[in-house]
Amino acid sequence: MVATTGPASLEHDRAAHPGVLVDRFDRAITYVRVSVTDRCDFRCVYCMSEHMSFLPKADLLSLEELDRLCTAFIAKGVSKLRLTGGEPLVRRGIMTLVSTLARHLKSGALNELTLTTNGSQLDKYAAELKAHGVERINVSLDTLDPDKFRAITRWGDLSKVLNGIDAAQAAGLSVKINAVALKGVNEFEIGDLIAWAHGRGMDLTVIEVMPLGDIDEDRLAQYMPLSMVRTRLAERYTLEDIDYRTGGPARYMRVKETGGRLGFITPMTHNFCESCNRVRITCTGTLYMCLGQNDSADLRTPLRASSSDDLLHAAIDEAITRKPKGHDFLIDRRHRGPALARHMSMTGG
Ligand code: SAM
Repeated sequence: MVATTGPASLEHDRAAHPGVLVDRFDRAITYVRVSVTDRCDFRCVYCMSEHMSFLPKADLLSLEELDRLCTAFIAKGVSKLRLTGGEPLVRRGIMTLVSTLARHLKSGALNELTLTTNGSQLDKYAAELKAHGVERINVSLDTLDPDKFRAITRWGDLSKVLNGIDAAQAAGLSVKINAVALKGVNEFEIGDLIAWAHGRGMDLTVIEVMPLGDIDEDRLAQYMPLSMVRTRLAERYTLEDIDYRTGGPARYMRVKETGGRLGFITPMTHNFCESCNRVRITCTGTLYMCLGQNDSADLRTPLRASSSDDLLHAAIDEAITRKPKGHDFLIDRRHRGPALARHMSMTGG
């Protein structure tokens, strides 16, 4: 689905959902990303430290609470829901949550239920996801070299992920690949990733590394501006800017030689906040109105305080009035550490 962003889409969202959440900057909030667990079966070097301490299970929202929270946002006009993590497919009972949320697809309240995954469990779950109405998924994959893959993910097995992608495509899911550009690691491999992804009918989006969380590594050593990636790719491919938008932060190009689409997400070199339509919820029910800011709202307390959703709805309304205009990441010689203490695995990528 191609969605426009900005005032035209706001008019559309308001017409489609009279009660839609709108923030102080006239942005309609129609997209929620929910981190269903902070745990992951990988330890990607730019995302987590090797020895992460995870939340006690008791702090996590139950599957029923996650469903109730998502349902409250859907009642407020949210039409797209993405499950993420940590690794969403390692949350015990995840398919129960997918199957209950699927009722909102059937009713038409939700346009899209999707997820971002590292692919390690897809061979097990792809068919079930499709059966519940999931149409598209994002799979994170930074390299096609098994040794490099193991080095980046610390614990991952490339062949398992590739089998997962096969299973997803065989089940009829549309797959988009997300790759983080890492200096000295996969910087010369992006061209091969394009050939591979486009050869299998998958879009590829390349992402600049963001300074989120302590990771035992130097952020500046990892950071690779996509302007440089583009210059290198131009030696091999003809890149044509296109105005395809998915409502997200990616800017897209058509790769003439493959006919496929290539997206760039450049949080470090471009501010993509003007058209931000999303908020993020952690697995403990904390709402982050911006990926790059610390301000948050506790939704677990109102959720647990009453079986009626009134308190929860009021807390959501209040939080949206605090959604900031944008973020301001910085990686330079003076700012090698994290801009924010929390890891991407907590807020959900
Ligand atoms: N486990 C799932 C996965 O691998 O896609 C979902 C969660 S993961 C945190 C979501 C995405 O965030 C992945 O594509 C990952 O590469 C990306 N990511 C994690 N930390 C990042 C960082 N510091 N900068 C940019 N992207 C990051």
